[in-house]
Order: sequence, then structure tokens, then C-alpha cells
Amino acid sequence: MKFVSTRGKQFKNNASEAIVQGLASDGGLFVPEYFPQIWDKLPQLLDMTFAERACFVMHQFLEEYDYQDLLSACQNAYNKFENQDAAPLVKLDEKTFVLELFHGPTLAFKDIALTILPYLLRKGADYCGVKQTILILVATSGDTGKAALEGFKDADGIKIMVFYPSEGVSDMQKLQMQTQEGCNVNVVGVKGNFDDCQTAVKNIFSDNQVHKDLFDKNVVLSSANSINFGRLVPQISYYFSAYCDLVNSNEIKLGDKVDFVVPTGNFGNILAGYYAKKMGLPVGKLICASNSNNVLTDFFVEGDYDANREFFKTYSPSMDILISSNLERLLFEVSGRNADITAERMSQLKSCGKYSISKDEKTSLDKEFFASCCSEDNCMLTIEKTFNDLGYLCDTHTSVALKVSNDYVDKFGKENPVVVLSTASPYKFTFTVLDALKENAINDPFVAAKELYEMTAMEIPEQILSLKSKNRRFVDVIDKTKTLKAVFDFIEK
Ligand SMILES: *Cc1c(COP(=O)(O)O)cnc(C)c1O
Repeated sequence: MKFVSTRGKQFKNNASEAIVQGLASDGGLFVPEYFPQIWDKLPQLLDMTFAERACFVMHQFLEEYDYQDLLSACQNAYNKFENQDAAPLVKLDEKTFVLELFHGPTLAFKDIALTILPYLLRKGADYCGVKQTILILVATSGDTGKAALEGFKDADGIKIMVFYPSEGVSDMQKLQMQTQEGCNVNVVGVKGNFDDCQTAVKNIFSDNQVHKDLFDKNVVLSSANSINFGRLVPQISYYFSAYCDLVNSNEIKLGDKVDFVVPTGNFGNILAGYYAKKMGLPVGKLICASNSNNVLTDFFVEGDYDANREFFKTYSPSMDILISSNLERLLFEVSGRNADITAERMSQLKSCGKYSISKDEKTSLDKEFFASCCSEDNCMLTIEKTFNDLGYLCDTHTSVALKVSNDYVDKFGKENPVVVLSTASPYKFTFTVLDALKENAINDPFVAAKELYEMTAMEIPEQILSLKSKNRRFVDVIDKTKTLKAVFDFIEK
């Protein structure tokens, strides 16, 4: 299996090179040369554990990785989840299911990929003959930073450094990062917003002199963000796994179609569902749910992507995105894998913030996708209604998806079973969730958590409880001009 760039100007690479490089040298994203067909192998997957299914699905793409070694790595990664099954399905009503992806170390769906990525990267570097220490740099608005730190802590031959906006993350998120354990990690607050952190990291990545100076110190840079194919490939597994679970519990027969509703930001999660469908999984519609930053809803409805619009800070911050990077991979597919057209659209996006697709492309997307968005008020109402009517407590991102799922059913009826992807624990956004259930909630994360527990009897995860007594190791806040210096201070330590 080889990988090509969505912009067509890079030689073919194998999987390990694609994962170690992260981004293709022409600025495009790595995509598999073809989609392996595993429809006829689905019966084999039925009897497997989540880790075995994940290994099976990933190995279709990661051919040069040793199967047994990958399997042990998957078992190690998914043993870090609180139950036996890393991605359990919960039945909400006759035909609606919630796929809970938040039982990992940091309580967000990013754990599914970031618990296994360190292995994919370290092994990949070995396969590519990279002997240097790998330094992962991350700019985060909250969830990614913590999940990456937890995934990479104490990983052999890898160091990780995270920059977050010092006043731009929730108290709980800040505490989670400041108390991070591990001997190879560093966390620094930056005076500024998320864009300042992102720009600082991008500038470091694009500076050849920095790469040379680091190389002299036996260090190479890499990234763990969601455009890396190594982040995408583990996510394909849970679409297959959820489908197998539905077959095993006699909710569907092998071959029946299932719709998936995905709370979407950077388009990585839902793209994995699209890839699963391309591999032969019987998926009906992929339903793209957005919050008030509804650039994707407009794209799917109108066929025009336009990022020139107001940016809203919402209750579902991990979906507050105007440039959805992974959409580039969908554009590549829908254009008939035309790299020139894809490159042209990305250049329009960069210069004027917008581009359009053709009528035919729009028609073919309509067959695969439905998109809708959810207001802030409806996000709060849906948390309350889902809890009161169905006894199910969900976080703000999942609430957006549940609301859009209802919109879809109202419009088209319920032909197929619907699986709603749940991307975070309610305790990751405790205050907002509590606020949706009662008036006058107190904005202290631990007080709110206790109160939420008393109201709902949903156990507070250990990861939250233990934060209270942990030592704050990383309290530095620096000016945005000092980020490069901080990187060198860290590697010279
Ligand atoms: C990252 C994240 C999302 C968005 O996922 P994408 O792959 O970027 O579309 C949704 N919900 C939560 C809780 C997240 O952390």
C-alpha cells in the first residue's frame, strides 16, 4: 500500500513515511492509493475484541508494520480505557444508539487515535531509518494537547511539547495539562489566543534553519495533529466495531445499512466513517453535525465553502473551527482523485477563504452526506431533554449531534438504525452540562462535578477526581515571541 498527496506533487510513500512526515512536501495531505475492500471479511471481525478489530482494519493500510507487534500495541493502547470495550454502544431507543468514544485516559474521542499514534510513529521512524529523537510540537485549544501528552508520555525516543493559550482553555483543561506526568513532556502557556500558539508552531515547522539546528542536536520535528494519517487510521476501526456490535446484538443483519451522526470540527472523525464506507462497510448516510460555526453545513447544503464569516466561541469548543483541514481529503475523492483541482481549491481557500464544487460533485456528495447545525440554546435544551426523557447524560458536543440526528429523522424518517458518535465525557464540560440541567450552577469544576453526580448518579471519572491532589508541574506562561527559545531550552534540559 502506497500513499499519495492530495495535491499530486510528491512521490509515492509507504505508510510509515506518510506518518513520520505528517504533511506531504507539496503541502497536501497523504491519502491511500486505493481503499482495501474488506466487506467479505466482516464475519471474521464479529468475534474479535476491539483491539483485534482495530489491528485488522489498520493493517489493511499499514502493510509494512508487523501484524503481531501491531496487535500487542493495540492491546496495550486499548487496555488504557476504562472498560474492556474501548468504544461501547449504548441503546437510546428502538433505532438510535450512542457510540461512546470517551472512555480513554483524557475522556475525549481523540484518545482512540492518540493512545496508538506514539507506537505508529516510533515504529514508523524505525522502518524509515530515523535514529534521532522525535520532538512532537502541539498547539492546542484544549483537548488535543492533553490527549497527545497522555499518549506520548514516557514514549521511547520521543519528546513532546504543548503550547496552549494561557487564558483560552477551560479551568479543567488547564489543570489537566499543568499536572501532566511523564519525563519527556513539557507544557507552556502562551500569552495570546489559540491562533498565536498555532502560528508560533507553524513558524517553527517551516523554518529550515530551525530544522538544521535541531538536527545538530540529534532531534527531528514531527506533529500529532489530525491531518496526520496516523491519527485518521485508528478512527476507521470504531465504525467497523460499532457495526459488528450491532450485528452481534441482533439489532441488524450483516449487510443492513447504518447511518452515523458525527459532531464535526476538523472533519477527521467523519472522514474516517467515509473511508470505512469506501472499504465496504454498509453505511447509509454520514450526518455531519456542526455548532454555530456552521461552515460545513453551508458547504454541504450549497456546494460553496466560505470561511469569511464571524467566529463564535461556543459550548462545544472542540468544534469551533472555520477551516476544516481534513475536508481536503474528501474534495480529493469527490473530484475523482484529481490533485490539480484539489490543489487549486486549496489555493483559493488560502487566498480568498472560499471555493466551490461543481454541480455533479455536489450531487454525488448529497448521496453520502447530510449536514445540519445546532444553536447554543438547542445544545443546552437537548442535554436537558435527553437526560429527562431518556435518562442519558451527554456532553455538549454529543448534544449537537443528537439534535442534528433528530432533525434528520424529522425530515427523512427512520429508515436505518442511527449511531450517534459521542466524543467527550459530560465531566469534561461539567459546568455547562450542569448549567443545562439546573439554574444557578456554581462555576467551580469540582463543586459542579459533585453536584452533577448527585443529580445524575453518573460516576465521576477517576481522571477528574485525581486532578485535585496532583502537583501543578507546568505553570510557565511565556510571550509568543519566546516559543522557539522554550523549545531549545526543553531539548537541552
Ligand atoms: C476534536 C473533537 C471533535 C471534532 O472532531 P474532528 O475530527 O475534528 O471533526 C468533536 N468533539 C470533541 C469532544 C473533540 O475533542
